[in-house]
Amino acid sequence: MATGKLEYVRELERGNRLPNFNWIVVRIDGWHFHRFSEVHQFDKPNDARALNLMNSCAVSMLEKFPDIIFAYGDSDEYSFIWSEKTNFCERQESQILSQSVSFFTSVYVMKWGEFFPTQELTYPPAFDGRVICYPRVKLVRDYLKWRQADCHVNNQFNTCFWTLVKSGKKKSEAQKYLAGTQTAEKNQLLREFGIDYGALPAMFRKGSCVFRDKVEEGVKLDGGRKPGEETCRRVRVDYCDIIGKEFWDQHSEILVED
Ligand code: ATP
Ligand code: ATP
Ligand code: MG
Ligand code: MG
Repeated sequence: MATGKLEYVRELERGNRLPNFNWIVVRIDGWHFHRFSEVHQFDKPNDARALNLMNSCAVSMLEKFPDIIFAYGDSDEYSFIWSEKTNFCERQESQILSQSVSFFTSVYVMKWGEFFPTQELTYPPAFDGRVICYPRVKLVRDYLKWRQADCHVNNQFNTCFWTLVKSGKKKSEAQKYLAGTQTAEKNQLLREFGIDYGALPAMFRKGSCVFRDKVEEGVKLDGGRKPGEETCRRVRVDYCDIIGKEFWDQHSEILVED
């Protein structure tokens, strides 16, 4: 049978081009990682191997997709900010989202053994993803502030929760004990257990930022590529404060509004 007659079904495909001039945020999140982290014996509250694996996947994302300008992650989630100028897949939402999620997931599986050499991957992990468009730099920055503030709140809670559980309390008791407590009370509780919250690794407290190094004038770049060529800049991971102004003042080239 000739295919010509059947091609009308393609007309039912829905286009879903994301609006021009908007930064595109793709946030991915581990599916049921509460269980995944237990089955794979993650250290609680923070397994550094798992966080470094997530960070390594995010670095691969920036290397693979030059139009991702910044990424921020903590726990089992990562947000990727695509340039407002990208025309990747003609800005089709389903393609940007599905390529992001599937590439990240494949890299996670491929690199698992590098970060968990003694822990077998016992079932295939999955990530979900969503897309949000922001037309202003202020909104993108507020989005990132929101994620970092969320990381702080969750991490402080989880650090207290697991400190109590490791001291012998039942999970339900620890939950009850912490209900309604403020930041100062949580810090006090940790001090009673000899933990200085501010001295815990920045990767746990602040989450991770992934971005490209600035190109300094006159510096010879890897492979002899010229400055300005996106893909030749080294992608780095840092645990920066992105709530305050300082980081954005120092890296003013990342988010620019014309
Ligand atoms: P959902 O499918 O709705 O996202 P979830 O079980 O993944 O459900 P989240 O709110 O995404 O729930 O939380 C992720 C959970 O994964 C955390 O609560 C924590 O238990 C676990 N987790 C993720 N990363 C780590 C890590 N690096 N170290 C320890 N635990 C982790
Ligand atoms: P796009 O990213 O746009 O999908 P593509 O290179 O994947 O580009 P497709 O139209 O999806 O292009 O075609 C898939 C191509 O992959 C085929 O043209 C063929 O070259 C190759 N391919 C896929 N499966 C097989 C297979 N089982 N044996 C040999 N070649 C294959
Ligand atoms: Mg999750
Ligand atoms: Mg999560």
